[in-house]
Amino acid sequence: MIQSAAPQHMVTRFAPSPTGRLHVGHGWSALLAMDMARAAGGAFRLRIEDIDGTRSRPEHVAGIVEDLRWLGIEWDGEIVFQSQRLASYDVALDRLRGQGLLYPCFCTRADIQASLTAPHGPEGPVYPGTCRTLAPAESAKRIAAGAAHAWRIDMGKAAAQAGPLHWSALPFPVRDVRTQVVAHPVLHGDVVLARKDAPASYHLSCTLDDASMGVTHVLRGDDLRGATDIHRLLQALLNLPLPAYVHHPLLVGPVGKRLAKRDGSIALADLRAQGMDPALLAADLRAGRFPIGIALASA
Ligand code: GLU
Repeated sequence: MIQSAAPQHMVTRFAPSPTGRLHVGHGWSALLAMDMARAAGGAFRLRIEDIDGTRSRPEHVAGIVEDLRWLGIEWDGEIVFQSQRLASYDVALDRLRGQGLLYPCFCTRADIQASLTAPHGPEGPVYPGTCRTLAPAESAKRIAAGAAHAWRIDMGKAAAQAGPLHWSALPFPVRDVRTQVVAHPVLHGDVVLARKDAPASYHLSCTLDDASMGVTHVLRGDDLRGATDIHRLLQALLNLPLPAYVHHPLLVGPVGKRLAKRDGSIALADLRAQGMDPALLAADLRAGRFPIGIALASA
Protein backbone atom coordinates (compact mmCIF):
# COMPACT_ATOMS: atom_id res chain seq x y z
CA MET A 1 0.00 0.00 0.00
CA ILE A 2 1.63 3.25 -1.11
CA GLN A 3 0.56 6.04 1.17
CA SER A 4 3.24 8.67 0.97
CA ALA A 5 1.93 12.03 -0.13
CA ALA A 6 3.16 13.50 -3.40
CA PRO A 7 5.93 16.14 -3.07
CA GLN A 8 4.09 18.98 -1.49
CA HIS A 9 4.02 22.19 0.30
CA MET A 10 5.42 21.61 3.78
CA VAL A 11 2.88 21.87 6.61
CA THR A 12 3.99 21.74 10.25
CA ARG A 13 1.91 22.26 13.35
CA PHE A 14 1.97 22.95 17.07
CA ALA A 15 -0.67 21.03 19.01
CA PRO A 16 -0.87 22.01 22.68
CA SER A 17 -3.41 20.66 25.15
CA PRO A 18 -5.04 23.55 27.05
CA THR A 19 -4.36 22.11 30.48
CA GLY A 20 -2.11 24.90 31.77
CA ARG A 21 0.03 27.81 30.62
CA LEU A 22 2.77 27.18 28.08
CA HIS A 23 6.34 26.87 29.34
CA VAL A 24 9.62 27.73 27.63
CA GLY A 25 9.80 24.24 26.09
CA HIS A 26 6.46 24.74 24.36
CA GLY A 27 7.57 28.12 23.05
CA TRP A 28 10.78 26.60 21.73
CA SER A 29 8.92 23.71 20.07
CA ALA A 30 6.41 26.07 18.43
CA LEU A 31 9.20 28.32 17.14
CA LEU A 32 11.05 25.34 15.69
CA ALA A 33 7.92 24.10 13.91
CA MET A 34 7.04 27.56 12.61
CA ASP A 35 10.60 28.25 11.39
CA MET A 36 10.80 24.87 9.71
CA ALA A 37 7.68 25.59 7.66
CA ARG A 38 8.66 29.17 6.89
CA ALA A 39 12.13 28.12 5.70
CA ALA A 40 10.49 25.78 3.21
CA GLY A 41 7.86 28.32 2.12
CA GLY A 42 5.23 26.14 3.76
CA ALA A 43 2.47 26.61 6.31
CA PHE A 44 2.43 26.42 10.09
CA ARG A 45 -0.84 25.46 11.80
CA LEU A 46 -2.11 25.61 15.36
CA ARG A 47 -4.33 22.88 16.80
CA ILE A 48 -5.80 22.93 20.28
CA GLU A 49 -6.12 19.40 21.69
CA ASP A 50 -9.11 20.08 23.90
CA ILE A 51 -11.11 16.88 24.08
CA ASP A 52 -10.05 16.03 27.61
CA GLY A 53 -13.11 17.50 29.33
CA THR A 54 -11.67 16.97 32.79
CA ARG A 55 -8.40 18.87 32.21
CA SER A 56 -8.94 21.28 29.28
CA ARG A 57 -9.96 24.82 30.21
CA PRO A 58 -11.09 27.67 27.91
CA GLU A 59 -8.94 30.13 29.86
CA HIS A 60 -5.88 28.09 28.94
CA VAL A 61 -6.81 28.34 25.25
CA ALA A 62 -6.80 32.13 25.58
CA GLY A 63 -3.49 31.89 27.48
CA ILE A 64 -1.90 29.76 24.74
CA VAL A 65 -2.92 32.23 22.03
CA GLU A 66 -1.65 35.14 24.11
CA ASP A 67 1.68 33.46 24.93
CA LEU A 68 2.35 32.39 21.35
CA ARG A 69 1.54 35.84 19.96
CA TRP A 70 3.77 37.44 22.60
CA LEU A 71 6.65 35.25 21.45
CA GLY A 72 6.09 36.32 17.84
CA ILE A 73 4.50 33.09 16.67
CA GLU A 74 2.00 33.45 13.84
CA TRP A 75 0.05 30.54 12.43
CA ASP A 76 -1.65 30.08 9.09
CA GLY A 77 -5.39 29.59 8.74
CA GLU A 78 -7.90 29.11 11.49
CA ILE A 79 -7.02 27.42 14.76
CA VAL A 80 -8.28 23.82 14.70
CA PHE A 81 -10.10 22.74 17.87
CA GLN A 82 -10.35 19.01 18.43
CA SER A 83 -13.60 19.54 20.32
CA GLN A 84 -15.13 20.51 16.95
CA ARG A 85 -13.92 17.39 15.19
CA LEU A 86 -15.66 14.71 17.19
CA ALA A 87 -17.76 13.45 14.26
CA SER A 88 -14.62 12.52 12.33
CA TYR A 89 -13.30 10.55 15.32
CA ASP A 90 -16.59 8.64 15.42
CA VAL A 91 -16.35 7.77 11.74
CA ALA A 92 -12.84 6.34 12.25
CA LEU A 93 -13.91 4.41 15.35
CA ASP A 94 -16.83 2.91 13.42
CA ARG A 95 -14.51 1.92 10.63
CA LEU A 96 -12.11 0.17 13.01
CA ARG A 97 -15.02 -1.46 14.84
CA GLY A 98 -16.31 -2.65 11.49
CA GLN A 99 -12.94 -4.34 10.89
CA GLY A 100 -13.33 -6.15 14.22
CA LEU A 101 -10.28 -4.37 15.63
CA LEU A 102 -11.85 -2.67 18.68
CA TYR A 103 -13.42 -4.03 21.83
CA PRO A 104 -15.14 -2.29 24.74
CA CYS A 105 -13.19 -2.25 28.00
CA PHE A 106 -14.96 -1.85 31.31
CA CYS A 107 -11.87 -2.00 33.52
CA THR A 108 -11.19 0.75 36.00
CA ARG A 109 -7.71 2.09 36.62
CA ALA A 110 -7.70 0.12 39.88
CA ASP A 111 -8.62 -3.12 38.05
CA ILE A 112 -5.69 -2.63 35.71
CA GLN A 113 -3.25 -1.78 38.48
CA ALA A 114 -4.37 -4.81 40.44
CA SER A 115 -3.49 -7.08 37.58
CA LEU A 116 -0.12 -8.51 38.52
CA THR A 117 0.38 -9.93 35.09
CA ALA A 118 0.46 -6.55 33.34
CA PRO A 119 3.60 -6.53 31.21
CA HIS A 120 5.63 -3.36 30.79
CA GLY A 121 5.87 -1.47 27.52
CA PRO A 122 7.87 1.62 26.52
CA GLU A 123 5.43 3.84 28.42
CA GLY A 124 4.79 1.78 31.54
CA PRO A 125 2.39 -1.06 32.24
CA VAL A 126 0.58 -2.46 29.25
CA TYR A 127 -3.13 -3.33 29.48
CA PRO A 128 -3.34 -7.04 30.31
CA GLY A 129 -6.18 -7.64 27.84
CA THR A 130 -8.82 -8.53 30.44
CA CYS A 131 -11.84 -7.39 28.38
CA ARG A 132 -10.50 -8.68 25.06
CA THR A 133 -11.95 -12.09 25.77
CA LEU A 134 -15.35 -10.97 27.02
CA ALA A 135 -18.12 -12.62 25.03
CA PRO A 136 -19.72 -10.07 22.68
CA ALA A 137 -23.13 -10.78 24.20
CA GLU A 138 -21.79 -10.00 27.68
CA SER A 139 -20.22 -6.73 26.47
CA ALA A 140 -23.43 -5.76 24.69
CA LYS A 141 -25.41 -6.45 27.87
CA ARG A 142 -23.11 -4.27 29.96
CA ILE A 143 -23.21 -1.45 27.41
CA ALA A 144 -27.01 -1.64 27.25
CA ALA A 145 -27.05 -1.39 31.06
CA GLY A 146 -25.07 1.84 30.80
CA ALA A 147 -21.71 0.56 32.03
CA ALA A 148 -18.90 3.08 31.44
CA HIS A 149 -16.49 1.76 28.86
CA ALA A 150 -13.52 2.72 26.75
CA TRP A 151 -12.74 1.23 23.32
CA ARG A 152 -9.38 -0.48 22.96
CA ILE A 153 -7.63 -1.70 19.88
CA ASP A 154 -6.88 -5.41 19.66
CA MET A 155 -3.23 -4.68 19.01
CA GLY A 156 -2.13 -8.18 18.05
CA LYS A 157 -4.86 -8.46 15.46
CA ALA A 158 -4.40 -4.90 14.17
CA ALA A 159 -0.63 -5.21 13.85
CA ALA A 160 -0.99 -8.55 12.06
CA GLN A 161 -3.45 -6.99 9.64
CA ALA A 162 -1.18 -4.00 8.96
CA GLY A 163 2.01 -6.03 8.51
CA PRO A 164 5.53 -4.58 9.02
CA LEU A 165 5.55 -0.81 9.40
CA HIS A 166 8.14 1.98 9.31
CA TRP A 167 7.94 5.70 9.84
CA SER A 168 10.18 8.44 8.43
CA ALA A 169 12.34 10.28 10.93
CA LEU A 170 14.30 13.45 10.31
CA PRO A 171 17.17 14.19 12.71
CA PHE A 172 17.29 17.01 15.21
CA PRO A 173 18.67 19.65 14.51
CA VAL A 174 16.52 19.27 11.42
CA ARG A 175 18.10 18.19 8.16
CA ASP A 176 16.27 16.70 5.23
CA VAL A 177 17.77 13.27 5.71
CA ARG A 178 15.17 10.61 6.22
CA THR A 179 15.71 7.47 8.25
CA GLN A 180 13.16 4.68 8.24
CA VAL A 181 12.34 3.66 11.81
CA VAL A 182 10.77 0.25 12.41
CA ALA A 183 7.48 0.66 14.28
CA HIS A 184 6.70 -1.73 17.15
CA PRO A 185 3.11 -0.85 18.06
CA VAL A 186 2.60 -4.24 19.71
CA LEU A 187 4.88 -3.21 22.59
CA HIS A 188 2.22 -0.69 23.64
CA GLY A 189 -0.49 -3.32 24.05
CA ASP A 190 -4.19 -2.72 23.50
CA VAL A 191 -4.18 1.08 23.79
CA VAL A 192 -7.38 3.07 24.25
CA LEU A 193 -8.77 4.79 21.15
CA ALA A 194 -11.98 6.14 22.73
CA ARG A 195 -11.83 6.98 26.40
CA LYS A 196 -14.53 6.53 29.01
CA ASP A 197 -14.44 10.26 29.63
CA ALA A 198 -13.53 11.56 26.17
CA PRO A 199 -14.79 10.66 22.68
CA ALA A 200 -11.32 9.81 21.37
CA SER A 201 -7.87 9.24 22.78
CA TYR A 202 -4.87 11.39 22.00
CA HIS A 203 -3.54 8.72 19.63
CA LEU A 204 -6.64 8.64 17.46
CA SER A 205 -7.44 12.36 17.41
CA CYS A 206 -3.83 13.41 16.78
CA THR A 207 -3.35 10.95 13.93
CA LEU A 208 -6.62 11.87 12.24
CA ASP A 209 -6.07 15.59 12.63
CA ASP A 210 -2.52 15.57 11.33
CA ALA A 211 -3.93 13.87 8.23
CA SER A 212 -6.93 16.17 7.82
CA MET A 213 -4.79 19.29 8.30
CA GLY A 214 -2.38 18.08 5.63
CA VAL A 215 0.55 18.03 8.07
CA THR A 216 3.64 16.81 6.23
CA HIS A 217 6.15 17.19 9.09
CA VAL A 218 5.32 16.54 12.74
CA LEU A 219 7.82 18.20 15.04
CA ARG A 220 7.29 17.38 18.71
CA GLY A 221 9.08 16.35 21.89
CA ASP A 222 11.00 13.16 22.43
CA ASP A 223 8.40 12.01 24.95
CA LEU A 224 6.08 11.25 22.01
CA ARG A 225 8.59 9.21 20.00
CA GLY A 226 7.08 5.91 21.22
CA ALA A 227 3.56 7.10 20.40
CA THR A 228 4.60 7.45 16.77
CA ASP A 229 4.56 3.65 16.43
CA ILE A 230 0.88 3.67 17.38
CA HIS A 231 0.14 6.61 15.07
CA ARG A 232 1.85 4.76 12.23
CA LEU A 233 -0.36 1.73 12.81
CA LEU A 234 -3.50 3.89 12.74
CA GLN A 235 -2.31 5.49 9.50
CA ALA A 236 -2.01 2.03 7.97
CA LEU A 237 -5.42 0.87 9.22
CA LEU A 238 -7.20 4.06 8.17
CA ASN A 239 -5.25 4.58 4.96
CA LEU A 240 -3.93 8.00 5.92
CA PRO A 241 -0.97 9.88 4.41
CA LEU A 242 2.37 9.60 6.19
CA PRO A 243 4.06 12.68 7.62
CA ALA A 244 7.76 12.68 8.50
CA TYR A 245 8.61 13.04 12.19
CA VAL A 246 11.17 15.10 14.08
CA HIS A 247 11.41 14.46 17.81
CA HIS A 248 13.33 17.16 19.59
CA PRO A 249 14.95 16.76 23.01
CA LEU A 250 12.92 17.88 26.02
CA LEU A 251 14.01 20.73 28.23
CA VAL A 252 14.81 20.12 31.85
CA GLY A 253 14.83 22.48 34.83
CA PRO A 254 17.45 23.07 37.52
CA VAL A 255 17.43 19.60 39.08
CA GLY A 256 17.22 17.84 35.75
CA LYS A 257 13.45 17.58 36.10
CA ARG A 258 11.37 17.72 32.94
CA LEU A 259 9.57 21.03 32.46
CA ALA A 260 5.90 20.70 33.26
CA LYS A 261 3.02 23.11 32.85
CA ARG A 262 2.36 23.13 36.56
CA ASP A 263 5.89 24.45 37.25
CA GLY A 264 4.90 28.11 37.01
CA SER A 265 8.46 29.39 37.34
CA ILE A 266 9.16 28.78 33.69
CA ALA A 267 5.78 29.66 32.17
CA LEU A 268 6.05 32.10 29.28
CA ALA A 269 3.43 34.22 31.06
CA ASP A 270 5.77 34.58 34.05
CA LEU A 271 8.69 35.60 31.88
CA ARG A 272 6.45 38.19 30.30
CA ALA A 273 5.36 39.42 33.74
CA GLN A 274 9.04 39.73 34.69
CA GLY A 275 9.48 42.08 31.74
CA MET A 276 11.45 39.74 29.48
CA ASP A 277 11.81 41.00 25.91
CA PRO A 278 10.04 38.39 23.74
CA ALA A 279 12.16 39.13 20.66
CA LEU A 280 15.34 38.45 22.65
CA LEU A 281 13.85 35.32 24.17
CA ALA A 282 12.82 34.03 20.73
CA ALA A 283 16.31 34.78 19.35
CA ASP A 284 17.90 32.93 22.28
CA LEU A 285 15.59 29.93 21.93
CA ARG A 286 16.32 29.75 18.20
CA ALA A 287 20.04 29.72 19.01
CA GLY A 288 19.53 26.97 21.61
CA ARG A 289 20.16 29.31 24.55
CA PHE A 290 17.65 28.77 27.31
CA PRO A 291 16.81 30.88 30.37
CA ILE A 292 19.01 30.25 33.42
CA GLY A 293 18.42 26.86 34.97
CA ILE A 294 16.90 25.33 31.83
CA ALA A 295 18.80 22.98 29.53
CA LEU A 296 18.30 20.29 26.93
CA ALA A 297 17.80 16.87 28.43
CA SER A 298 20.65 14.60 27.52
CA ALA A 299 19.50 11.81 25.25
N1 GLU B 1 -1.13 17.75 22.77
C1 GLU B 1 0.12 17.11 23.01
C2 GLU B 1 0.80 17.77 24.19
O1 GLU B 1 0.47 18.90 24.53
C3 GLU B 1 1.09 17.19 21.85
C4 GLU B 1 0.66 16.34 20.74
C5 GLU B 1 1.64 16.19 19.58
O2 GLU B 1 2.45 17.10 19.33
O3 GLU B 1 1.54 15.17 18.92
O4 GLU B 1 1.67 17.16 24.76
